[in-house]
Amino acid sequence: MAILKAVRGTRDLLPPETELWNRVEATARAVFARYGFGEIRTPVFEPTELFARGVGEETDIVSKEMYTWEDRGRADSDKGQSLTLRPENTAGVVRAYIEHKMGDAGMLQKLFYIGPQFRRERPQRGRYRQFWQIGAEVLGPAWSGSESALRDAEVLEMLAALLNELGVKGWRLALNSVGSATDRARYSAALRDALAPVKHLMCEDNQRRAETNPLRVLDSKDPGDQEIINGLPKIADYLDEASQEHFAQVKAALDSCGVEYVVEPRLVRGLDYYTRTTFEFTVPDGSGLGTQNALLGGGRYDGLSEMLGGPKAPGIGFAIGEDRLILTLQAQAAEAEAKKMDAFIAPMGVGQNAAALSLASELRRAGLSIEVGDGSFRLKKSFEAADKLARKMVIVGEDEVSSGILTVKDFAAGEQTKVPRAELAAALRQ
Ligand code: AMP
Repeated sequence: MAILKAVRGTRDLLPPETELWNRVEATARAVFARYGFGEIRTPVFEPTELFARGVGEETDIVSKEMYTWEDRGRADSDKGQSLTLRPENTAGVVRAYIEHKMGDAGMLQKLFYIGPQFRRERPQRGRYRQFWQIGAEVLGPAWSGSESALRDAEVLEMLAALLNELGVKGWRLALNSVGSATDRARYSAALRDALAPVKHLMCEDNQRRAETNPLRVLDSKDPGDQEIINGLPKIADYLDEASQEHFAQVKAALDSCGVEYVVEPRLVRGLDYYTRTTFEFTVPDGSGLGTQNALLGGGRYDGLSEMLGGPKAPGIGFAIGEDRLILTLQAQAAEAEAKKMDAFIAPMGVGQNAAALSLASELRRAGLSIEVGDGSFRLKKSFEAADKLARKMVIVGEDEVSSGILTVKDFAAGEQTKVPRAELAAALRQ
């Protein structure tokens, strides 16, 4: 009988990799707790209408990527209801916020979630049909301060802290403002006008977007269309005074807490609900994500609650692609390991310094990369230095010098072995 396999674009996560997933989630929970976030868990499927209204009919997600079905139902009341596996979690969180009247107390709500999302995208490295997001939302009635630029900066500073704590190297924060809903509408109209005479020169996808959702044209990676895109009007010229001021405050707050960012005028993001601040964190090429270098994205959504029939509840949130975060951590750890020196030689006492240097010289002549510690280091300090710099550590004490048998510690394997001096170069090369 044929073997059954996981559906294309979905995958099993197995030990020991799941340990890394748990470590990432535990770190995220610890960081979120320090900023006052509580966990929310919403259903994995929701009424299709939630995403149609919340994410937007014209987005790629809603128009072609959702897993939607008509429920067979048991009671007449739910027969034929259209249901969808959630493609993202913000709409579900805002629905829950409205349904449970979470804004009634006038308090700012700070909520985080960790869970699977589903999109029918073309599977590739870093892009799956079931993927995981770690996300958070800050929302509340206007009098709770939910509109304040301080909230945007706090969320961004928290993300910087989380990525640093996880050890993600070289991340880059791209930042923009898409203005109020009115600014956005004026800008969309301007883009549509600017695109009308040239859109026939663009790829098929962009020709369609130019009509249905011109903001999406800016996201396009199509190389042939970049010249036209670079010449399009910029959103910054369409922001009203209040949005300009809000954006200036976000940037000033980030400057004051030392979070670096790059303003990227083309960063508008695909979902309909974004207003004002939008952002994306990327990692450098070679971080294991192939062409999918966006680690996380988010922004402000001041009108979303009203779009879902709720009260005014401005908010800001983000979603980290957990699969991509894990791939990045794995690739960066492998790269750091590959860059390490072959060995660190640790003399046990200054009396062994000369012997250690002579051993280093011999091994370097054999072509190995070697660092030498100092005999005045305590063993613990030697271990720490060696673990950072090299794959292995060679201990040179009195016994080792007299017997010609050296003690070698292999950090990755966590093993300590005895090696005769004549075989040392070969052992370190392994
Ligand atoms: P979005 O909800 O589209 O703003 O995406 C937020 C983050 O989720 C992205 O920056 C990615 O890291 C991640 N993401 C989105 N779609 C996928 C996917 N199909 N597979 C893996 N990660 C994804």
